[in-house]
Amino acid sequence: MTDAMTRPTVSPFLEPGLRTKPRSLAILQLSRDNLLPIYLQEASGEHDGYAEGAVVNTRYGSFPHSTMLNVPWGSQIRASKVDTGSRGRKRKRGPKDDASRDDAEENQPETADNNDTEATGVKQAVADDSGFIHVLPPTPELWTQSLPHRTQVVYTPDYSYILHRIRARPGSTIIEAGAGSGSFTHASVRAVYNGYPSSAEDRKGKVFSFEYHEERYHKMKKELTDHNLDGLVHLTHRDVYNGGFLIDGKSPEADAIFLDLPKPWEALPHLSRRKPQTQAKEGEDTAAEWVSPLNPKKAVHICTFSPCIEQVTRTVSAMRRLGWVDIDMVEIANRKLHTIRDRVGLHYQTDRGVNVSPHDVEEALERLAEIEERVREQAARPRGAGEDGAEDADTVMKNGDDAAKKDNDKTSAEQPPFQTPWVDGRLITKGEPEIKTHTSYLVFAVLPREWTEEDEAAAFAKHPCGKEKAVVGSIDKQTRKKERREQLQKIGDRKARRKERAEKIAEAVE
Ligand code: SAM
Repeated sequence: MTDAMTRPTVSPFLEPGLRTKPRSLAILQLSRDNLLPIYLQEASGEHDGYAEGAVVNTRYGSFPHSTMLNVPWGSQIRASKVDTGSRGRKRKRGPKDDASRDDAEENQPETADNNDTEATGVKQAVADDSGFIHVLPPTPELWTQSLPHRTQVVYTPDYSYILHRIRARPGSTIIEAGAGSGSFTHASVRAVYNGYPSSAEDRKGKVFSFEYHEERYHKMKKELTDHNLDGLVHLTHRDVYNGGFLIDGKSPEADAIFLDLPKPWEALPHLSRRKPQTQAKEGEDTAAEWVSPLNPKKAVHICTFSPCIEQVTRTVSAMRRLGWVDIDMVEIANRKLHTIRDRVGLHYQTDRGVNVSPHDVEEALERLAEIEERVREQAARPRGAGEDGAEDADTVMKNGDDAAKKDNDKTSAEQPPFQTPWVDGRLITKGEPEIKTHTSYLVFAVLPREWTEEDEAAAFAKHPCGKEKAVVGSIDKQTRKKERREQLQKIGDRKARRKERAEKIAEAVE
């Protein structure tokens, strides 16, 4: 077999290519936050009663897979009038249908599937009068928004910060438990990806994931295969509180750990450098016959994800007992801002012809100054002009409104010409009130690498502290003398050359 044949297909999450492909995962964006993951199917005859083959039905119309194949990622796909054939009653075709068919044919991507309907046995899709969606490449962020939830999941604002803090980078090895719905798994595998391993010995970035719920484990296993992430994520069905994190008795040599478990403190003893005292029998050598799942050559970074502060307290206590350092806790309070165009400002009148909002800050200040001035005038006026102070205030307000109306009339005369709706109005930004601010508390810590006597000796040989012959970075006497000699030599050579040139010039003059 050639190399190309043995190489696994690369996951669409890692290298999606430029265009959609059959049998690949695609994310359909129906509206801003409404995403639908689908596997694009090749056109091969009637499907589920549709003459156009497989069809996605949405509130925005029907979308045959054939219209979404071999198009650049991000393309807008127009809805089609689908022929339900055996599935429903046939529609009568009218002149409008013919017009849309011509239109659709013009807009079809040039693919064998679309042009060669006889070969595929599917009917060519006809564009509908309205309705569209976008076809997007799968990314961990879009997957998090659209994945089938089996559990609570870690969201993008949390996992992007976590992956940065635990120093996940191409080539890293991460331990993750529990796998749950795979939201964090997809983000972490992209962070560590530096190619598929070509053999069992080939060490590449990898995620070792653990899940004890059998059904979730099987669903996740299938998903990883469907997404071509098999070689990069090693999923194990295990209760990590009891079984720990070794793979067939061997260490995965993790550089970083993420625990999204109800009791992280029960898993922590398995994530030590040597057998923890709590697991050792009396008098037992804790360094012997115990395999650590951690990379012995590096400081290991951990993050635990817990919704309650009581869980944090217990986790931090366990970390302190087990030698973790640099322990701190973070809460991500993510706030999404919604930016829209709205008709605010004096340029935009309401239906009643009044708009109380000032055009800009200067105008707002001008108006305030005017109102204040009138209030001062009223206050200075002798009593009796109005019956009481309240009436005076009303008059002031009325005058203010009249002024606003006057301003309004003035500005409506200056109204800009009609603009298309998408550039009409002003850009305004609002916080979205429904955004959840608390997901979980993130506890971070570092477990330094073990430092043996051999390590100390090797470091001392390299950096002989206290036995230096000179100040580190300085030049010894011999070298300094040699450099001085070379410098003098260069100066002498330069003088000799100058003298020679002067003599030649003198000769030429004579
Ligand atoms: N981080 C995941 C994600 O982003 O989709 C969600 C994890 S979910 C909140 C917690 C998972 O941990 C559950 O699926 C649960 O079955 C699993 N779990 C709980 N205790 C476990 C244990 N002792 N060993 C392995 N998995 C465990």
